[in-house]
Amino acid sequence: MNEEIKRLKDYIDGAEKTVFFGGAGVSTESGIPDFRSVDGLYRQKYRFPPETIISREFFYKNPAEFFRFYFDKMIYTDARPNAAHLALARLERAGKLSAVVTQNIDGLHTAAGSKKVYELHGSVHRNHCSLCNKYMTLEEILSARDGEGIPRCECGGIVKPDVVLYGEALDDETVLGAVNAISACDLLIVGGTSLAVYPAAGLIRYRKNAPLIIVNRTPTPMSDEADLVVTGSIGEIFSAAVENPDKDLF
Ligand code: NAD
Repeated sequence: MNEEIKRLKDYIDGAEKTVFFGGAGVSTESGIPDFRSVDGLYRQKYRFPPETIISREFFYKNPAEFFRFYFDKMIYTDARPNAAHLALARLERAGKLSAVVTQNIDGLHTAAGSKKVYELHGSVHRNHCSLCNKYMTLEEILSARDGEGIPRCECGGIVKPDVVLYGEALDDETVLGAVNAISACDLLIVGGTSLAVYPAAGLIRYRKNAPLIIVNRTPTPMSDEADLVVTGSIGEIFSAAVENPDKDLF
């Protein structure tokens, strides 16, 4: 185990109310590309830039194009939790982690068994009809697509994913829960995020005296003020830093 990972493990072992704040980099090892790395969504060619397509205005003006991009680039039905998601769920079960705050919309923390998850940008697994508000799962909207690829409710309305689009506000209750967890934590681990998307990235300022640890492949705007920076693959780092009592069972 290298020196940084050993220090991370010591921080985790010594804390009782860790909060993990993460982003797209947490899920790249599950096969979901992030937005800003070399192979990420922002480097891919489409008719419009992703920020334009996944905006509220575009959704209502051009739903066919929105959903072409959405189902093609943002939905990964085969993705499964990786070692980082599983380690965070273990920490919560052990009573040492009070919450996961994520910018991700893939639902993989919940799939890994984490219970207290604040999904700042919503989830692809929840969807509502824009006319009658009927709730639909991801599986249901996948099979409710019309000839243009737009998911339709039985009332005829376009189904809108509960994902925060550019031009939309974050959900107040989710933000409040995340802020409360961060201000009460005794260790804040930030991982797999470029910390470039606001207001989400601003939430880490709510930590009080809790040490800040950044686990990321590349430098972030907050790396200089972190108490510890661990550089590398988040799955490998968390597997090494968080005990797995079940690992010898198989
Ligand atoms: P980002 O793409 O801006 O940054 C990802 C960061 O993670 C980069 O700094 C990269 O170096 C790092 N990284 C990538 N893989 C890593 C790994 N295996 N181990 C360690 N570090 C790794 O992502 P962001 O900061 O979350 O912001 C992008 C926005 O995109 C978010 O708002 C999020 O909602 C959305 N998004 C979500 C998903 C998802 O749900 N899985 C995927 C793509 C984008």
